[in-house]
Amino acid sequence: MIQDLKDGIYHNEYKEQNPSAGDYIIFAKGRSVLMKKESTIIKFPHFEEIISEMVYIYLFQIDINGKMHKFFLGEADLVSEELLESYAYEPQNVFRSSGPDYMAFAGITACQLANWYASVKYCGTCGTALVHDKKERMMRCPKCGAMHYPKISPAVIVGVIDRENNKLLLTKYAGREYKKYALIAGFAEIGETIEDTVKREVYEETGIHVKNVRYYKSQPWSFTDTLLFGFYCDLDGDGQIRLDEEELSVGEWLSPDEIPMEYDGISLTNEMIMRFKNGLENS
Ligand SMILES: [Zn+2]
Repeated sequence: MIQDLKDGIYHNEYKEQNPSAGDYIIFAKGRSVLMKKESTIIKFPHFEEIISEMVYIYLFQIDINGKMHKFFLGEADLVSEELLESYAYEPQNVFRSSGPDYMAFAGITACQLANWYASVKYCGTCGTALVHDKKERMMRCPKCGAMHYPKISPAVIVGVIDRENNKLLLTKYAGREYKKYALIAGFAEIGETIEDTVKREVYEETGIHVKNVRYYKSQPWSFTDTLLFGFYCDLDGDGQIRLDEEELSVGEWLSPDEIPMEYDGISLTNEMIMRFKNGLENS
C-alpha cells in the first residue's frame, strides 16, 4: 500500500525546526503540489532553490537506508517566477501512479497537511488568528486557548463475503470520477464503534445484513483526509441487494474469477479485493 515504503521509515514526530540545504520544500495549492516539470520521477524543490523569503513549517522526515530526508511546507503564494520555470503544480492523483514510493507518500501526506494548515488560520471558537504550537503539530488560539489538531476522519472499507457461493460484494460509486470497482465504504459517525459503522454502512448502501465482522488493516488515505479501517465480514441471510442509488451505481456479487482487477500496491481497497480474488479470505 502507499504507506508501505520499500526502503524507508516514515518519522511523523513533530519538532519545530528550520530547513537547510538538501531538505525538500512542498508547495501545495488546493489538491495540487509543485513538482519538477518533465521528470519521470517525483521531484520536489530543494531548500537551496528557493530564493524568496518565506516562513516554513516542518512536516516530517523519511529515513531512506540511513539517510534522513526532511520535508517542509513553503508558502505557495511566494513561489518565484524562476522556480516556476522548472516546476509546475500537478494534481494529487500523480502520487497514485508515480515513484519513488517515499516521494509519493511524502507528497500526498504533505498535501493533506497543507490543506489542514490552510484551513486553520483563525480560531473556530472566537475568530482570533491562530499561532503554531512549539511542541506539537497543533494550532493554538492565543486568546481563548482553544487547540486545533489536524483533522482526520475515520472511515471503513468493507469486504462483504457470501461464503456459501464464494462471492465478494463489489460496488461502483454514483456520480464520481472513479469508475473502477470498489468495496462498501463510509465515514464513522459520532457515537458508534467502528464495527457499528461497518454494519450500518453495508445496510444503508445495499440493504443487506452482515456478521463475523473482522478487522484486517488500516491505511492513512490522505487523498480524502481519511484514516481507513479495512474489515471483512460475512453475509447474514438474504444476499438480495437493494442499492442506495444516490451513493452507488452498481452493486454485485462476483466470484474470484469474475473480478477484473489487478494488484496496484497503492490502496487498501485494492489489497482487500485482491486477497479475496487470490483465495486468501475465502477459507
Ligand atoms: Zn479562540
